[in-house]
Amino acid sequence: MSKPILAIVGRPNVGKSTLFNYIGQKRVSIVENIPGVTRDRIYLDAEWLDREFTMIDTGGIEIESSDKMLTAMRYQAKLAIDEADAILFIVDGKVGLTSADEEVAIILRNTRKPVIVAVNKVDNMQKANEIYEFYNLGLGDPIAISAANALNIGDLLDEVVKRLPNDEVVEEDNETIKVAVIGRPNVGKSSLVNRLVGEERVIVSDVAGTTRDAIDTHFTKDDTSFVLIDTAGMRRKAKVELPVERYSVMRALRAVDRSDVVLIVIDAVDGVTEQDKKIAGYAHDAGKASVIIVNKWDLLEKDGKTSLRYTENIRTELAFMQYSPILFISALTNQRVSRVTELIKFVAEQHTMRIATSVLNQVIEDAVSINPPPSQFGRRLKIYFTTQPNVKPPTFVLFVNEPEIMHFSYLRFLENRLRESFGFEGTPLKLVVRGRK
Ligand code: GDP
Ligand code: GDP
Repeated sequence: MSKPILAIVGRPNVGKSTLFNYIGQKRVSIVENIPGVTRDRIYLDAEWLDREFTMIDTGGIEIESSDKMLTAMRYQAKLAIDEADAILFIVDGKVGLTSADEEVAIILRNTRKPVIVAVNKVDNMQKANEIYEFYNLGLGDPIAISAANALNIGDLLDEVVKRLPNDEVVEEDNETIKVAVIGRPNVGKSSLVNRLVGEERVIVSDVAGTTRDAIDTHFTKDDTSFVLIDTAGMRRKAKVELPVERYSVMRALRAVDRSDVVLIVIDAVDGVTEQDKKIAGYAHDAGKASVIIVNKWDLLEKDGKTSLRYTENIRTELAFMQYSPILFISALTNQRVSRVTELIKFVAEQHTMRIATSVLNQVIEDAVSINPPPSQFGRRLKIYFTTQPNVKPPTFVLFVNEPEIMHFSYLRFLENRLRESFGFEGTPLKLVVRGRK
């Protein structure tokens, strides 16, 4: 079920971001207009020849000296080996083969994961013989590309999808609710997980085929079974806390991919951080249900309006996630922790809710009569028919006369009407517009 991850590795300035942005440009979805979702994006959902995968730019490590660069590069390569399903190693055709490239290659040669070498900045394909020296990396046939001029990117992606692992056969168990607990180090994830599974019967399992040390924890509460995804280092605290933000982000993205419900854990004292926004944005884009947990509530001095003010602040910071319930807890004192599983169960139900077609069309008709659809060049949008073909997240297809006239703001209006009528708390909704003459 979870999409394979392709990590991009390479020295600074070889063109990683250029390639990343070029591939990203081709996918503009409605949610990307919402502030906070796309800023400084480091992952990207890509699709090529019907294969979907997630690209991660592992770059962005601050480099002050060449010494540090080498350390950072080695680290980056190891990270990619641990967390990704395939690795795209980018080198610079203009600069030629460097010793740093060779160092990285040594690390990459020691993995069984597929590695694809792309030689960037080959702006003139007649001169593609520049790439021969990169055979010395010992990582197979290098592919000449130019990210800036969009040359050969198709060939590169062909090669990438060829090497991605085939979909893991994960046993689908619709009874169990899969939960990812995400948040920055020290927000209290381990404490919360231990509280949740504390007295319950716990089975810890290694999941074959996923990240080497991913450990899932199963527990049952009031006849509902839950699995907490990748609790490695959570149930028993990991000794080393890796300092680089991207490590934990990548790991969290994977957990989100495999989950139904995401618990976004925020530290009451620190509030919502940029990293929280990124991962929450990812969960939203991926169509996952979510609950926002404000932990360490015991540490705040409170007056009668503290939770109200706090809620307003979260609604502003995570503007794209207005639908998620917010819960103030203390994993330390156990305050409201029992509400956590109730809320997980609740949003999981909302996430799988199906609306009967007749009721759905009635609601859309009512919405249209209150607020007529947009028009353009004298033509007015008509919505003929609406269906809900899918859940997780609830997905609606609107058949209309001319899809181009549909407006983002009108879709928002319809989404709000659907929420007012049916709830859908804690889950994003997907609205798809299709033309039908
Ligand atoms: P990153 O540090 O690896 O992310 O590299 P960037 O994507 O920021 O690119 C570094 C520089 O190389 C920028 O000035 C780009 O414009 C340039 N660049 C990227 N791709 C190409 C290319 O295909 N040809 C040429 N000539 N320049 C490129
Ligand atoms: P993780 O890194 O997100 O797994 O965070 P931990 O669960 O290890 O917690 C980090 C620190 O915060 C530990 O010292 C915990 O005892 C403390 N902590 C966790 N939850 C709470 C809470 O609700 N209130 C207070 N005051 N401290 C907490």
